[in-house]
Amino acid sequence: MNRRDFLTTATAASATFALAGCNDSNRQAIDYSKHPEKKSEDEVNGEAREGTLGYKKRVNINRNKKTVIKLATSWPAHFPIMGTGVEKFAQRVKDVSGGSLEIKLYPKNTLIPALAVFDAASSGQIDAFHSGPYYWKGKNSAFSLYSGLPFGFTAEEINSWVLFGGGLELWREQYAKYNLHPFMGGNTNIQMGGWFAKPINSLDDMKGLKMRIPGLGGEVLAKLGVNPVLLPAGEIYTSLERGVIDATEWVGPALDIKMGFYKVAPYYYSGWHEPGSILELTFNKYSWNKLAFEHQSIIEVASSEMNANMTYEFHAENIKAFKKLKELNINIYQFPKDVIEAGKKALKDVTTELSQKNSDFKKVYDSIENHLELSKEWSNASLRYFLNER
Ligand code: CA
Repeated sequence: MNRRDFLTTATAASATFALAGCNDSNRQAIDYSKHPEKKSEDEVNGEAREGTLGYKKRVNINRNKKTVIKLATSWPAHFPIMGTGVEKFAQRVKDVSGGSLEIKLYPKNTLIPALAVFDAASSGQIDAFHSGPYYWKGKNSAFSLYSGLPFGFTAEEINSWVLFGGGLELWREQYAKYNLHPFMGGNTNIQMGGWFAKPINSLDDMKGLKMRIPGLGGEVLAKLGVNPVLLPAGEIYTSLERGVIDATEWVGPALDIKMGFYKVAPYYYSGWHEPGSILELTFNKYSWNKLAFEHQSIIEVASSEMNANMTYEFHAENIKAFKKLKELNINIYQFPKDVIEAGKKALKDVTTELSQKNSDFKKVYDSIENHLELSKEWSNASLRYFLNER
């Protein structure tokens, strides 16, 4: 394995999107600040129009009244990077708003079960949540695509699709049906292919394996004869140790090393299934619309910062953990060519089937494919060349 290639690939994510908060709401914010007198069509009509492209009434902060947002997460309190990242976001919002906006955090299971946060925000039980879009693929298979696509975008590329390639508009349009309004809220950066109890020398070695792997990656592997399973985080290690499962993917070195998988499944493979998974900060639409204009702007800016910081922190922690793994004599392997080729073919089958079944999926997939084809050509000509030469 070329360890250097793995390391350098991860740096693809750390680029310019800290500057890239220019979604439609932000553009509106900038327009209003430059033209405070200008009234939108809806203000003239005296009603706020819902929807991402619509104008809102400008409601200023009432400084005598503190606004509190109830935000539940799918992570335990202080969970590295994802949990602590949301905590920093909440503190930032409080600081920038001069204490007039407080985000009250409810970590996993303290108010809402980890995977019930979508429904809780949709129904208005809470105002917002922090989680990952692919957890909601049972509601609409299209939602898994907002996390990313196997063999798809790097973190940098998916940010460019969401912010400047039409992704955010589609995401908001589709989440609006559930009374929700999403923002990007972080990115795990490139994930690893997982930990295996035995080496994988060919496609045959994959057949019959029981592996913990969620999302579209799991559906792809199912077509290769793998039996994908989902397990709560706390059960993965013992399941591997007892041979209940043969393999697991998790995230990347930073979080994987803390789980200790290297002790029971020491064959660590490079990734293909989650090359840059987005995390989300999603609001109940009513809760979002009733926020003061300044509070909305503060959240737009602070969520953009959170999105960038989590991506960079994953990179920074991954490189340290990767060094430790090497000191523990953990080797990094690459999947054999026949596994990768079969995986790509299976992905085509999975996405074709889902596109036929669900027009929402097709719409998002087509948009991604469009952006991805162009992105690959450019990334090959620029980044791949550079990483090979560096
Ligand atoms: Ca994962």
